Amino acid sequence: MNIIQSQGVTKLYGRKKVLDRVDLCVERGKIFALLGPNGAGKTTLVKIMLDLVRPDSGSVSIAGVDSRNRLCRSNLAYMPEKFAFFPYYTAANVMSFYGRMHGIRGAELHNRTAEVLERLDIAAISRQRVRTLSKGQMQRLGIAGLVLSGADLMIFDEPFSGLDPIGIRDIKKLFLELRDEGKTIFINSHILSEVEQVGDQIAILHEGVCLAQGPLNELKGENNLEDFFYNTVKG
Ligand code: ATP
Repeated sequence: MNIIQSQGVTKLYGRKKVLDRVDLCVERGKIFALLGPNGAGKTTLVKIMLDLVRPDSGSVSIAGVDSRNRLCRSNLAYMPEKFAFFPYYTAANVMSFYGRMHGIRGAELHNRTAEVLERLDIAAISRQRVRTLSKGQMQRLGIAGLVLSGADLMIFDEPFSGLDPIGIRDIKKLFLELRDEGKTIFINSHILSEVEQVGDQIAILHEGVCLAQGPLNELKGENNLEDFFYNTVKG
C-alpha cells in the first residue's frame, strides 16, 4: 500500500512552473529517495505534502488522507534541510520539545529520550546547550527528534548534510533499522552514493517533471546510480 500518493501536482511561482503534473507513489515500509538537481522542485513537493505550500492543481494523500487535512500529519515527522532550536535549550530540552509535540510525556519521555540519544550516539551532549553543538551533533539531534516521535512516516531533507563519514555510516544503518521496524523513510538528497546503499525506491525530478520512479535496482540495472541519474537528467 502507498503511504504517499501525489496526483498531478502542479505548482507555479509567478509564471515559473516548478512542478508539472507530478504523480508520485511511496510504498509503506520502504526507504524512498527523491533525487534531482538543484532547483528541481524537491523541497517544494515536500512542502506541498506537508501543506506548507498549496499546489495550483493536483493533490497529495498521506496514508489515504488528503494532505490539506491536518489529521494526515498525526503520524508523520519532518526534518527540514535547515533547522534551528532555541540556542539556550539543552539537547534534552530539544527531545522534550519533540516528545511533547507527539504526545509523549513523563517517565516515557524520560526513558525514550535516554534511549534515542544513546541510539544516535549523542548521550554525552544531553546537557549541552544547542548553541555549543557542532554541525554534525545538531544533525544527529534533529534526526533523534524524529526517531523519538516514533512516527510511521519520517521525512528527511538532506539528512547526510554536515555529517562526517562515521556519522553518514551511522545514519545509513539507522535508516535500515527503522525501515526494518516498519517505518517509511523519505529522503530528499543529492548524495547519490549514500542513497544507492540504502534506497529501496527512488524518483528523479528534473525541472519540475518526474522523469523516473520505481525500485532502485530495477531502474539502474547494471549501471551505478550516478550514471543512471546523469543519463536520465541529461537525456
Ligand atoms: P535544492 O536541491 O537546490 O534544494 P530543490 O529541488 O529542493 O532544490 P526547490 O527549493 O523546490 O528545489 O525550488 C524549485 C524552484 O522553485 C527553484 O527554481 C526555486 O528558485 C523556486 N522557488 C522555491 N521557492 C520559491 C518561492 N517561495 N518563491 C519563488 N520561487 C521559489
